[in-house]
Amino acid sequence: MRKLGIAFLAGLVACSPSSTNAQDARPLRPDAPRLIVAISVDQLSADLFDEYRPHFTGGLKRLAAGTAYRNGYQSHAATETCPGHSTLLTGKRPATNGIVANTWLDQNAPRTDKTIYCAEDEKVSGSTSRAYTVSPAHLNAQTLGDRLKAVSPASRNVAVGGKDRSAVMMGGRNVDQRWYRQGNGFATDLKDAGVPRSVTLTNQAVAAVLGQPRPALEPPALCAPKAREYVLSPSLTVGNGRMDRAAGDFSGFTRSPEFDGATLALAAALAQEMALGRGQATDVLSISLAATDYVGHAYGSGGMEMCLQMLALDRELGDFLAQLDRSGVDYAVVLSADHGGMDIPERLRDKGIVGAARADAGLEPGEFGKLLAPQIGQSGNILRGFGIGGDIWVDQSVPAAQRPAVLRAAKERYAAHPQVYAAFTRDEIMAVPMPAGPVDKWTVIQRVRASFDPTRSGDLIVVLKQYISPIAAPSSGYAATHGSPWDYDRRVPILFWRKGSRPVASDQPVETIDIMPTLAAMIGLAVQPDSIDGKCLPAVGVACPR
Ligand code: ZN
Repeated sequence: MRKLGIAFLAGLVACSPSSTNAQDARPLRPDAPRLIVAISVDQLSADLFDEYRPHFTGGLKRLAAGTAYRNGYQSHAATETCPGHSTLLTGKRPATNGIVANTWLDQNAPRTDKTIYCAEDEKVSGSTSRAYTVSPAHLNAQTLGDRLKAVSPASRNVAVGGKDRSAVMMGGRNVDQRWYRQGNGFATDLKDAGVPRSVTLTNQAVAAVLGQPRPALEPPALCAPKAREYVLSPSLTVGNGRMDRAAGDFSGFTRSPEFDGATLALAAALAQEMALGRGQATDVLSISLAATDYVGHAYGSGGMEMCLQMLALDRELGDFLAQLDRSGVDYAVVLSADHGGMDIPERLRDKGIVGAARADAGLEPGEFGKLLAPQIGQSGNILRGFGIGGDIWVDQSVPAAQRPAVLRAAKERYAAHPQVYAAFTRDEIMAVPMPAGPVDKWTVIQRVRASFDPTRSGDLIVVLKQYISPIAAPSSGYAATHGSPWDYDRRVPILFWRKGSRPVASDQPVETIDIMPTLAAMIGLAVQPDSIDGKCLPAVGVACPR
């Protein structure tokens, strides 16, 4: 496993720095760290962090000894990857930054395909939601890197991610390098930024490792008690997987610690090659690690597989930080997550959560609409959406005069279903003021409001009851998920660390939108308070503006 980690690649990318930021540049405040490293662990719930925290010995142990908020919140209801990453470095909620979901429906889009991917530019001709043109066009916000480069042109802004949408949402518009997984390697959408040697070498190393089969990992004592198999379908058993894969199996590669190892290795190599943090102006390096998400989706969060992933992630992060230490750069780290996750309901029931279940397949909007239509004098597909729960749109084919009646009937029927907590219409949601105050006390409709943009969100938002998985029928790679307004999907750790920082362990509920203003204060970057939704966290030891 570790042969694709940092230690392995560092030797390969021993090239001398090709660039530093300009000699005459200055930090925005003398004590500013010269490098901000912002790490997102995709699907790292606070529940997982709490469970494994006593067992971490590597990078996660170190970061948890800084200012550690165990009750961080992706406060909104649409707990998906794109909205989650959009909050981390913008200080804005999905409702105000526009990233309300991974995909939404725009029935007026000027192309045949009306599905819009969050990190695409659908105006590019030939682009579709599947074969899309990667772009930050939908993000109505500036990231930390965007803001920093506007006042400190010598600063560099570099994003590396397991997914394009993560790298786009953390990096923003003005990036020097942006690399993410595409095909079986790392690719970029930037035309003129060149291909650093780090990328070529990392892709070569990935290809070499992928060409070999991977034997099963030996389970450590901590993981052994979790080895219990769950047969979810005749072809799908989870719970005791040990990450072995055949040569060339890239899906198997992504749902294993190998993927995070490769992503971190690329980030470390780019930091070295670009000499990030070695000039005077502060640089920003954002990293999104996707393997925890793929492991969670494929196997759930309570089995052997996630145990192996958590322990490997901790080791890989430790190696990554050690690499930064060796560079002598004065850096600060923040680590959080884009959302949490829910385990497979089958295992949750065994843990005593009796109501845990898979959703009725009939709740899927297309199916639901087909049954509803004849009952209300309609025909055809009257409802559209992406999976069970979340945004639902009334199809364009329904005449305008009849849309209110269709919406009323859909709301009523959904709300009457025993697995549905509530169904909210656009008008009901927009009547709710943008939430403020303690984030752990928000009502469900307040959570929905925080990720609702009336120009992009659905006509109706359906919220399933707690512990109802929207995956009606599990399939390979997709047994468990996230996306609900419940705390297992919203609550995430937020860890700030800088060399010499004193340990602060906080139970205070804070939000991921507080990260950007806190980092801005740390590096002396002025942020107009009315341009963001979050607030600076003084407990991190920074001078928050008054
Ligand atoms: Zn995610």
